[in-house]
Amino acid sequence: MSRIVIIGAGPIGLEAALLARQLGHDVHVFEKGRVAENILDWGHVQLFSPFGMNSSEWGRAALAKAIGENSLPRADELLTGREFTERYLIPLSQLPELVGRIHEHSQVLTISRRHFRKTEGVGGTARSSEPFQLLIEQTSTSRSVISTDDMDREPRGESEGRILARHEVVEQYVDERIELADVVLDCSGTYPHHNWLGDGGMPCCGERDGLTEADYRLPMINAERFANLITIVVGSGFSAATSVVALAELARHAPRTKVLWFAKSPPSQTESAGPIVRVPNDSLLARDQLAAKANALASLGHFTNTSSPEAKHHPVVWFADVAIKSLTPTQTCRDFEGFGVELDWSRAAGQGSDPLSRLIVDRIIANVGYRPDRSIYEELHVHECYATQGPIKLAAKLLGETSADCLTQTSHGGDVLKNPEPNFFILGSKSYGRNSNFLLRVGIEQVREVVSRIA
Ligand SMILES: Cc1cc2nc3c(=O)[nH]c(=O)nc-3n(C[C@H](O)[C@H](O)[C@H](O)COP(=O)(O)OP(=O)(O)OC[C@H]3O[C@@H](n4cnc5c(N)ncnc54)[C@H](O)[C@@H]3O)c2cc1C
Repeated sequence: MSRIVIIGAGPIGLEAALLARQLGHDVHVFEKGRVAENILDWGHVQLFSPFGMNSSEWGRAALAKAIGENSLPRADELLTGREFTERYLIPLSQLPELVGRIHEHSQVLTISRRHFRKTEGVGGTARSSEPFQLLIEQTSTSRSVISTDDMDREPRGESEGRILARHEVVEQYVDERIELADVVLDCSGTYPHHNWLGDGGMPCCGERDGLTEADYRLPMINAERFANLITIVVGSGFSAATSVVALAELARHAPRTKVLWFAKSPPSQTESAGPIVRVPNDSLLARDQLAAKANALASLGHFTNTSSPEAKHHPVVWFADVAIKSLTPTQTCRDFEGFGVELDWSRAAGQGSDPLSRLIVDRIIANVGYRPDRSIYEELHVHECYATQGPIKLAAKLLGETSADCLTQTSHGGDVLKNPEPNFFILGSKSYGRNSNFLLRVGIEQVREVVSRIA
């Protein structure tokens, strides 16, 4: 039996925890937020892969036994992130095998080998003679109701007291401790560690101060926040397509809603008429429908210096290969806190004079992808790919893949997930680094291969 620590209670961390428990290991999962924290952040979005592909056979079997087969979603059901969490991930986390083993609000800050600095024990077997040590920060909250008289009292102890309406006092305690482990599975995902929207992947001028973390996520597109406003969407992937299609839908009811979509042209002009590369004969129908809708909207409003002026009047205007040079918080004509945006047309091939150099917009959604947080394993020996920042052996296999369809991917076996640091594995979406082709199906396969080999 090994003591296994799993970082992150997302779908892959939970699948790994359950399988490891079924195989008799001593397992603890540390989760910085709630179970499935990241998926809940985009809970309103529908997954394009069906439930059968997003869940393991050991997870479904354990749940069927515990709560009955009929309580599970059908294999072909397309669930939203929230439904997937409520109907599968939370019940999974509550199985008897995992009770008392999932520690929410417990963030892993860093991992090292006990008694070994990074520069010590290089290349030998000495490091594996000592366990891993993980620094955990646990946040707990206590709530109490006080009478009006108590409100003037100073907050007690070292905690910070905050008095809310209805005389409720919420106190937060932060505690640090060290946990030891024989094996560490880093399943902490990449969301929400975002990329930058500026040209070449660096922040454009004003971006670091002008945008907040929330601007890089997938917001719920509702009338209250977006109706009859001008929104810039940046990005060429399925997240950007999701935002653009939802905003265009809103524009049907609120006709002054406008989307300015900054997305690269597809690599080959023959591939599609819009920015999203469609997978030939895509078996994930929902994904293909999203790509087709987004491309149709973009091609109607494709804006260049040679396009007809009508392009500007479509609800979605596509600025292909145009970068954002700078953004500045500005008061818009609606007396609203928006942005002044300066454009860079230098990449847009064949342009003469720049047709538009400045814009004033109300909102910016930067769906420009996510990257792994590598700081937690900085003290370990991990050989990373210089392009994707995923573990090198897996990254090399992935870079060799030619198909645009992530459905054709396999997990490439447990050996490619080994690191120079023995018994440290990066699984799930984080194992792909900045490569956005990860599918849950692959992560479940990784779990099977790695966990079943743990001694
Ligand atoms: C909008 C969107 C739609 C997607 N749709 C699909 C789809 O249809 N089909 C599909 O197969 N894939 C899809 N994916 C891709 C992928 O499957 C998901 O991102 C999935 O959530 C990855 O699972 P994970 O367990 O690897 O990571 P996550 O779900 O990101 O879970 C990681 C967990 O680790 C926690 N954590 C992070 N850092 C720490 C730390 N230091 N200490 C403790 N805990 C930590 C987080 O809070 C989180 O709970 C989609 C992704 C997005 C963003």
